[in-house]
Amino acid sequence: MKFLGAHVSAAGGVENAPLRAAEIGAKAFALFTRNQKRWVSPPLKEDSISAFKSNLAASGIKPEHVLPHDSYLINLGNPDPEKRKKSLDAFIDESRRVEQLGLSLLNFHPGSHLKQISENDCIKLIAESIDTAAEETKGVVFILETTAGQGTNIGYTFEHLKAIISASRYPERLGVCIDTCHIFAAGYDIRTQETFEETLNAFDKTIGLSCLKGMHLNDAKSSYQSRVDRHASIGEGNIGLDTFKLIMADPRLDNIPLILETPDPVLWPEEIRMLYGFE
Ligand SMILES: [Zn+2]
Ligand SMILES: [Zn+2]
Repeated sequence: MKFLGAHVSAAGGVENAPLRAAEIGAKAFALFTRNQKRWVSPPLKEDSISAFKSNLAASGIKPEHVLPHDSYLINLGNPDPEKRKKSLDAFIDESRRVEQLGLSLLNFHPGSHLKQISENDCIKLIAESIDTAAEETKGVVFILETTAGQGTNIGYTFEHLKAIISASRYPERLGVCIDTCHIFAAGYDIRTQETFEETLNAFDKTIGLSCLKGMHLNDAKSSYQSRVDRHASIGEGNIGLDTFKLIMADPRLDNIPLILETPDPVLWPEEIRMLYGFE
C-alpha cells in the first residue's frame, strides 16, 4: 500500500498541517516544525502539540508517515566549528520537536563542504554531528536526503550517504529519502523501466532498500546530470509520468511516506488522485 502526500504548510501552527494534508486527500505529509528560514524559533506550545496529535489522529495519518523536514540553514558538515555548532544546536532543537509531536522521522540535506574541506572530511563531520544529535534524543530516525549536488552539497551519490551511515556510531538511527528530481539531476537516470530498475538496484547494492524510509516525488525542471535542483509538477518535467507510474506500482516502495514537493500546491489534490490511480 502506498502512503502519498505533500509538504504542506504549517502556517498558523503545526497543528494545521494534518488538517491541510487531510483536505488534499493525503495519507502522508511533510512539514516544517519551525520557521525554516530562521536560526531560532520559539518552542512549540503545549496546546499546539496536543492539537497536532488530535488532528493527526483525526486525519487517519499515522505518525510514521509524517516526514518533517529541517531548516535549509542547517549545515551539519560546515567546516567552521562555530557555525557547525550553531547548525547542530538548531538540528537538535528540530529533533526534540519531532519527539514532542510524537513523530519519529527527521528529513535533512546532509551538508555542504563550502570548498573549504574535502567531501570525505565533510562526510566525517556530518556523521559526528548526527551522532551528537542521536545522543541528545531518543528514537528519532535521521533521514538523509539524496541531493542534486548543487553547489557544494554532499549527498549526490548513494556512496556519499552510505559513507555517512558507515561513519556513524548509530547506523540504526539513520535512514535515506530518495528525491526523484535530485537523483535525476545528480545523474541517476530513472526515465525508463530499465534505468529505473538499474537505479533502484544500485541503491539496494550500495545502501540497502531496507534503509529507504521515504521518498520525495518531484518531476524535474532541471535536466539530467545538470546538478541543478528545480522541481516540476508530476508529468510536466524532464522525468515524465512513466517513472511515477513505475513508483506507484512498485511494492518495494510500499509503506513509506511518498511526499510531493511539486511547485504548485493547487495541483496537489489532482496529483495525489492521479498517482493513486497508478497504484
Ligand atoms: Zn526533497
Ligand atoms: Zn529539491
